[in-house]
Amino acid sequence: MAVDAERIRDFVSYLRDLGIYEMYRHGEAGTLSVAELLGESAVTAQVVQAAPLPAPETIRRVTERPAVAPLLTMRPAAGAGMIDPRVPLMTAEPILESSIPKPIPFDDLAPLPEVRVAAKDKVAALTLIRERIGDCTRCPLAYAGRHTIVFGNGDANARILFVGEGPGADEDASGLPFVGKAGQLLNNMIGAMGLTREQVYIANIVKCRPPGNRAPEPVEANTCSQFLLEQMDVVQPKVVVALGSTAATYLLGVKQSLSSLRGRWHGCRGAKLVVTYHPAFLLRDPRQKGEAWKDLQMVMAELGLKAAAKG
Ligand code: SF4
Repeated sequence: MAVDAERIRDFVSYLRDLGIYEMYRHGEAGTLSVAELLGESAVTAQVVQAAPLPAPETIRRVTERPAVAPLLTMRPAAGAGMIDPRVPLMTAEPILESSIPKPIPFDDLAPLPEVRVAAKDKVAALTLIRERIGDCTRCPLAYAGRHTIVFGNGDANARILFVGEGPGADEDASGLPFVGKAGQLLNNMIGAMGLTREQVYIANIVKCRPPGNRAPEPVEANTCSQFLLEQMDVVQPKVVVALGSTAATYLLGVKQSLSSLRGRWHGCRGAKLVVTYHPAFLLRDPRQKGEAWKDLQMVMAELGLKAAAKG
């Protein structure tokens, strides 16, 4: 069965932004799992009946699964809609609970520093963090085609920190966070709050582009989190805005739907945290812009900001 990888990737991103993960991990019987489609290049895929799972006493499944699970097998596409019979099938391994690191709440990664960085020293402190990251190879994303480490930027004394998921193609090329279409929408959102981009700080959960714009794997996010945590402890924002479910998952250490996390305050590194939609999601589903605006209005009320005059 030929697969339009680009369309599937868009669809999975849409679901992921809503906090729906299991489709990303597992195919259900008779349907197509798309996890592997998000990684490298376009592939041709087919669902086959898999061998029985290993003995239950040796493996605990992540979720309830049928005794005989369909596994995805795939082989590189030989051309549009073609399967090259000379290429052996690669059988996807079952995903074991022990093989998937859990997201760790930022508040559990390290205690808050006893001595906070003074306002005048924040730029230098951020520079030191960037220098320590260096040409980082601490997680697999270093070897997944990244061109640039996207550290994050903005006002070192910002009251608001926006946290996204990871760099996309435009960010990977420029080294700056949120510079593509989603970045333009984020700029508009910030402007509507009566602020400029230079008055906020913007960063991502991971600093290197995941291939195919897939979500960062837990091991990647947990590894890179140490740097974002340090940036947060330096900037000391009053409010953190988690843009999308990946940011919320790793900042809060919970894997829940976006709808269950939105509309209330959470805490993170001494700041209040609100969850809203990722701008890329809003580009795909503009009907949710009004909901995102409600989230931003919570932030504005907290910080005493006034909406920018229209015009
Ligand atoms: S994503 Fe983060 S931890 Fe991984 S290589 Fe890039 S900078 Fe290092």
